[in-house]
Amino acid sequence: MTMTKTLVHWSEAAEAVEAPNQLLIDGEKIDAVSGERFAVTNPATGETITEVAQGDAADIDVAVNAARTAFEDGRWANRSPRDRGQVLISLAELIETHTEELQLLETLDVGKPIRYSGRVDVSQAVNTYAWYGEAADKLYGEIAPTGRHALGMITKEPLGVVGAVTPWNFPMMMNSWKLAPALVAGNSVVLKPAEQAPLTALRIGELALEAGVPPGVLNVVPGFGETAGRALGLHPFVDGITFTGSTEVGKLFLAYSARSNMKRVSAETGGKTPNIIFADAPDLDFAIGAVGFSIFWNTGEMCIAGSRLLVERPIYDEVVEGVAAMSGSWMPGNPLDPSTKAGPVVDDIQLTKIIGYIERGAAEGARLVAGGSRTLTETGGYFIEPTVFADVDNSMEIARDEIFGPVLSIIGFDTQEEALQIANDTRYGLSAAVWTSNLGRAHTMAAGLKAGTVWINNFDTSDITAPFGGYKESGFGGKDKSLHALDKYTHTKTTWINLGRGGV
Ligand code: NAD
Repeated sequence: MTMTKTLVHWSEAAEAVEAPNQLLIDGEKIDAVSGERFAVTNPATGETITEVAQGDAADIDVAVNAARTAFEDGRWANRSPRDRGQVLISLAELIETHTEELQLLETLDVGKPIRYSGRVDVSQAVNTYAWYGEAADKLYGEIAPTGRHALGMITKEPLGVVGAVTPWNFPMMMNSWKLAPALVAGNSVVLKPAEQAPLTALRIGELALEAGVPPGVLNVVPGFGETAGRALGLHPFVDGITFTGSTEVGKLFLAYSARSNMKRVSAETGGKTPNIIFADAPDLDFAIGAVGFSIFWNTGEMCIAGSRLLVERPIYDEVVEGVAAMSGSWMPGNPLDPSTKAGPVVDDIQLTKIIGYIERGAAEGARLVAGGSRTLTETGGYFIEPTVFADVDNSMEIARDEIFGPVLSIIGFDTQEEALQIANDTRYGLSAAVWTSNLGRAHTMAAGLKAGTVWINNFDTSDITAPFGGYKESGFGGKDKSLHALDKYTHTKTTWINLGRGGV
């Protein structure tokens, strides 16, 4: 029997929560070498949840050495793919068993509404670990189609030690997109979660041990980017970095690689997604509803956020009015309340940044048609109203920068060519959406948009079976999700066997 859990239930659970607060290195929970700790804050109240051990370069060094030893002695890499897969499937099952605990930790840590943190974040993580676990023993090598004089075998091998550096907006999900393919391929991993979101990363590290991932194979070192993240990027014993975060920091990892051992770097970075509605959109009400999810869900803290809404002139006023009215349904509230659709933004730094963009958008001449202010200040939390600007020009700062908050810019266009030109006039290329009934236009737009993912008459359809990642400054060095992700975590080796005269 499923019982609907109430605000009272979640509030009581929050009072009693036991948050993990130590580093996880070589299978042990330990304090930082320096003894330092940092406060992890609940963005809905501004209160400290716990103080977590603050890893820095010294702890990264210990963790990388543990991961290197674990890799070289083959305790994980030499296990059969099926064995590794079974362990990941066990991890998926354990995460599912701990759904309530993990969803609460995620909600407290980053302010994600409790109604989504279980059915989206936990369940996506479960699905990802299980999917790669199931794939483990279904991947084959190749034989090169050469003549009969030799046999050319093409095989995949793990990179070795992978450093994973991740953001705070979907902590459990982003971590699973990195850890599951890296581990299933046989690598050892050092995960440096975002300093705003270390809690579920630490707990999943513990569950991985329980599931049978050997000590040293998955190490979790919370800490700050400029210290712990940088040390991982520069470490000579790290063979690959898998990064998700801002474009600016993604570029730093390329530089760290260049300055150290030329380690492989893959980066999933920022976005400024154009969401393009033509006058022949098949169902305008549905499209307007999807605009809400595209920019106000997860408080707009999404790399794929549809932050630029491009609307064809004949329906421009109708859409602006519809979107402004719809935005009211995304007013933020207490994330522990199961009726809440939008929570706070992650911290006061993000709050100040978003408010600054809103002020400059108004100063640049954009027309504010909804929201625009901080709200629920009495809670001590970092809440912002869903905000809509109309009459935005694509050259304005609010249309160019990734705001990473609930702020929508609406831009009008007259022709398909103009829509495509505006859509591609950005340094980003993560995703794009097109709403039209015209099949030819849908294909032409999909082909013309410089983006890693294009949605036609939907927004943010996704599945673990399809690759995800950006063009231009939205991504570099491979994709997350699907079997394509395994390319990031494996070397391709060619072995030639001489077949001698008998083969000639
Ligand atoms: P961020 O770049 O500030 O931080 C990401 C990670 O990098 C964190 O773990 C952080 O500690 C670390 N870091 C920060 N400075 C560093 C430095 N100098 N050296 C080494 N590491 C450093 O990003 P964020 O604010 O946590 O996340 C938001 C960003 O993530 C947005 O730009 C968003 O678009 C992007 N993102 C992209 C995707 C995608 O798949 N493309 C998905 C989610 C988020």
